[in-house]
Amino acid sequence: MKVHDHSPTKSRRPPRPGGNRRPSGSPKKSLGQHFLRDPEIAVRIVEAARIEPGELVLEIGPGRGAITEMLVNRAGRMVLVELDGALADMLTERYLENQNIRVIESDARDLDLSESGDLPEILERSYKVVANLPYYAASPIIRRFLEADNPPAEMVVMVQREVAREMAAPEGRMGLLSVATQYYADVEVVFDVPAAAFIPPPKVVSSVIRLVKRASPPLEIDDEPAFFSFVRAGFKAPRKQLHNSLARGLLIEIPEAAGIIARAGLDPVRRPRTLSTAEWGRLYEARAGMQERAASAAPALVGEEAADDRQAGA
Ligand code: SAM
Repeated sequence: MKVHDHSPTKSRRPPRPGGNRRPSGSPKKSLGQHFLRDPEIAVRIVEAARIEPGELVLEIGPGRGAITEMLVNRAGRMVLVELDGALADMLTERYLENQNIRVIESDARDLDLSESGDLPEILERSYKVVANLPYYAASPIIRRFLEADNPPAEMVVMVQREVAREMAAPEGRMGLLSVATQYYADVEVVFDVPAAAFIPPPKVVSSVIRLVKRASPPLEIDDEPAFFSFVRAGFKAPRKQLHNSLARGLLIEIPEAAGIIARAGLDPVRRPRTLSTAEWGRLYEARAGMQERAASAAPALVGEEAADDRQAGA
């Protein structure tokens, strides 16, 4: 990660004299560069972000700055995270005189959001993330922020329409991405954006979504990674009935999967997408309960076997 820091408390990195990596004319496909060219869409994104004066805003992938300037005019402090070195240099140069803007050249998927990490400012106050995200990295970037110890109060981001619909899916039609996203945030599709709004136009339609951090998770889960890997297992065969899908995902026999489902009080012939987050929680707890019971029964069995052995030897 390279920090182009303008903060008066830290050293300023001047642009390299004559040696800057100039942004090339052609957008880089490998970095998902579809630059917004419709200013009306840029205005709608910034309005959707509802930025309060003085607020801290993180923009991921500012690119050539289609929405950056409008954000700069509203936010109190901004951090721009851009992976393309030439664009990061260009933005550094553009905002060299602005003490409230910090440019970080980094892959947003790898940002260290911990206390000693890349973004110390997010530990001090509430912040928002605003972005027209590169499609290829949108889900991991969103996940990184949702799972952070200090997540943003709100994220207003543009993603591929299908991803947006999946993240915001209503109960009864939720997939793995819906459960994993809505566990952390309330998700809403704000508006769709046609391909013609970008240069070059992508092959897909985009949507702007708003994710508002939940005050507390909808479930009390002891081990979140274990819960999500259980839900992933439950979606192993999403079109099959729940007992089949779960058996495949957990590598267990169908009757055992049916036992877990019965213990959770659910119908085994339902399809995985019909379950709510709360029902996934019940299923997870049911399995944990059965595993605990099996574990506590095991020493007794071992004990009984040992007694049998002693008797046989006597
Ligand atoms: N915000 C600009 C706009 O609306 O015109 C550009 C949006 S473009 C869809 C995505 C931007 O994200 C590009 O500038 C690209 O270089 C940058 N980018 C791509 N992958 C990235 C990553 N992993 N981390 C940070 N930025 C990335």
